[in-house]
Amino acid sequence: MSLSRARYKTLLLERGRLGGQARLIDRIENYPGFPCGVQGGKLMDRWIRQARRWGLKFGMKVAGKVSYKNGFFRVEIGRGQEICARAVVRCTGARFKSLGIPGEKKFFGRGLYHAAFDEAPRCKDKDVAVVGGGEAATHQALYLARFASKVYLITKDFRLKAHPLLQKRAASRDNVVPIPCSLVEKVEGSRRLERVWLRHVSNGLRRFLRVQGLFVLIGKEPEAPGIWEASQGFFVAGDARGDRFRQVAIAGGDGVRAAMECMQYLEAVAAQKP
Ligand SMILES: Cc1cc2nc3c(=O)[nH]c(=O)nc-3n(C[C@H](O)[C@H](O)[C@H](O)COP(=O)(O)OP(=O)(O)OC[C@H]3O[C@@H](n4cnc5c(N)ncnc54)[C@H](O)[C@@H]3O)c2cc1C
Repeated sequence: MSLSRARYKTLLLERGRLGGQARLIDRIENYPGFPCGVQGGKLMDRWIRQARRWGLKFGMKVAGKVSYKNGFFRVEIGRGQEICARAVVRCTGARFKSLGIPGEKKFFGRGLYHAAFDEAPRCKDKDVAVVGGGEAATHQALYLARFASKVYLITKDFRLKAHPLLQKRAASRDNVVPIPCSLVEKVEGSRRLERVWLRHVSNGLRRFLRVQGLFVLIGKEPEAPGIWEASQGFFVAGDARGDRFRQVAIAGGDGVRAAMECMQYLEAVAAQKP
């Protein structure tokens, strides 16, 4: 948005839904300017409206290989087509880490998910489990607890690592059941996921939970780092940077910083022209 506002011809490529992960958050409470919090989707709609107002163009395409030659980047967008640009900002976010356990691939989308926002209403009066002890896991467990009859919160450590406020909220919900010091070993079922097998980290005891859903939120890793050829004029913003702290406000601020660095670079390139 900052680039199009500065009158640079800017195209934003998106392979899925504009707004990314923030759309998965039912209420963002730590984004400045919203004293009562804001629904992730609503905040993203505002970002998009503001960007459109300043002339940002959107291309609903997957950015493939990015290469650099003679001062220009070429971004493959499929079917032999490519986009030519003086500068590129990679803000491809991060993907959810998987558990790497038997049954995970088979039941993905059939009882096993990473995000609860769309799925939660379908969990009404069911028992579900969330694996992970961080912010996203606790956040999702609390959201699911509004619908599900029971939400098991499986953590490999003794306690949650989420913000103390979220920990307190989880502890105060009767239907959020902590399962500490446990590793998920495998998932089973027939057509859909039905059982989650656990192993206690210290005594090695195994048991299973009968659940209709498992939400895997054990962290994220930067998306598609391999296909991008870095060079001058190439910038990275948001979760794609692989930083420890991942927040909407950080991603937004990072985008502004990358845009400013990009403008500085483009001005320097323009000044070099004879
Ligand atoms: C469950 C959950 C709860 C969270 N809660 C909070 C919270 O309460 N507060 C908070 O501040 N943050 C929260 N976060 C973190 C926050 O959502 C992220 O840090 C932030 O949205 C990252 O923004 P981003 O633009 O860097 O990445 P993303 O939002 O991941 O956006 C990247 C976009 O790039 C697109 N993309 C990727 N590869 C390509 C490609 N090759 N071609 C085209 N498009 C591509 C993706 O489709 C995606 O839309 C939460 C995250 C989750 C998952």
